[in-house]
Amino acid sequence: QSTEQAVMYEAHEFVKKYYHHLLVNTEEGKKAFDYLQSRGITKEEIKQFEIGVALNSWDAVTKVLQKRGYPMSIMEKAGLVARSEKDGSYYDRFRDRIIFPIHNHQGKIVAFSGRIMGEGSPKYLNSPESTIFHKGKLFYHFYQAKNAIRKKNRAVLMEGFADVIAAYQAGVTEAIATMGTALTEDQAKILKHTTEQVILCYDSDNAGINATEKAANVLQKEGFTIKVATLPDGLDPDEYVRKFGVDNFQSAIIDASVSLMSFKMQYHRKGKNFQDETVKFQYINEMLQEIKKLPQLIEQDYYVNALAKEFSISADALRSELQQFQNQNQ
Ligand code: ATP
Ligand code: MN
Ligand code: MN
Ligand code: MN
Repeated sequence: QSTEQAVMYEAHEFVKKYYHHLLVNTEEGKKAFDYLQSRGITKEEIKQFEIGVALNSWDAVTKVLQKRGYPMSIMEKAGLVARSEKDGSYYDRFRDRIIFPIHNHQGKIVAFSGRIMGEGSPKYLNSPESTIFHKGKLFYHFYQAKNAIRKKNRAVLMEGFADVIAAYQAGVTEAIATMGTALTEDQAKILKHTTEQVILCYDSDNAGINATEKAANVLQKEGFTIKVATLPDGLDPDEYVRKFGVDNFQSAIIDASVSLMSFKMQYHRKGKNFQDETVKFQYINEMLQEIKKLPQLIEQDYYVNALAKEFSISADALRSELQQFQNQNQ
């Protein structure tokens, strides 16, 4: 660890406390506090997640950092301030936004994400990649959730900040998030050191469903046991909890999660007319492709039999078809 990195960690810790102080103790922070309140996020979560607010100011953070003697060129590299191309002066990167601190897996703050209060673009503004922040190599809230993940021997993977907070309120303390980007091989490898089971709980819109299949592929390669929790009506976990209450999330969503294969069987058959034999055989082929990806032969056998039974085809025929796929792909 270089001196420069040590300075970056220290500055993030300092700025995190500053943003948090503004939110919980000041009049200027009232708007942000009310916004969070309106989303069902109370003082307790504000403390637990160390949420803060960046004021509607171009130089609030710049000034406190300068006053404390932090070298501004390093602060710029860390993404805490930006630099004007016109006159080279420094200004605050985060303005008029709710601030979510992002911890690395050792518990140090390495970045922030700022959410606009209400509608607007970009909805979230992140710190840039830096020598201490690699978005594709960490999970949001992993440091805090690690013990729960160990204890329950599973992680619940979500898209965003609000989702993890809502899950936490619902007692799903093993929830972590990829912050909107596709799950990487690095993240999967890192998670594998703590658990071998993942419940995917992404948004139930099209983007979320596509991301579920992609994440599942990455996790499958690393040998995880994968389940999928599906939410109704295009909702995300946060919206579900606000709509149906904290008590239902664990029992109706997380406990009701199904194996990846069941999820794919449900999902791929949506809107398909099995009266049409071409459609039917196409579906069976798609499912064989999925079965092929399963790591265990007993699992493969189980789903081959299920498929055979449902479509009144001999399991032997399906097995030899599967064998052909496997040979082709070797
Ligand atoms: P909210 O509930 O606050 O409206 P969300 O989590 O439902 O936000 P999504 O659009 O579902 O927002 O995006 C999922 C995640 O992707 C966000 O939590 C955030 O981490 C990330 N994200 C979304 N929009 C952006 C953006 N414009 N820039 C960077 N990251 C983003
Ligand atoms: Mn989404
Ligand atoms: Mn969402
Ligand atoms: Mn949301």
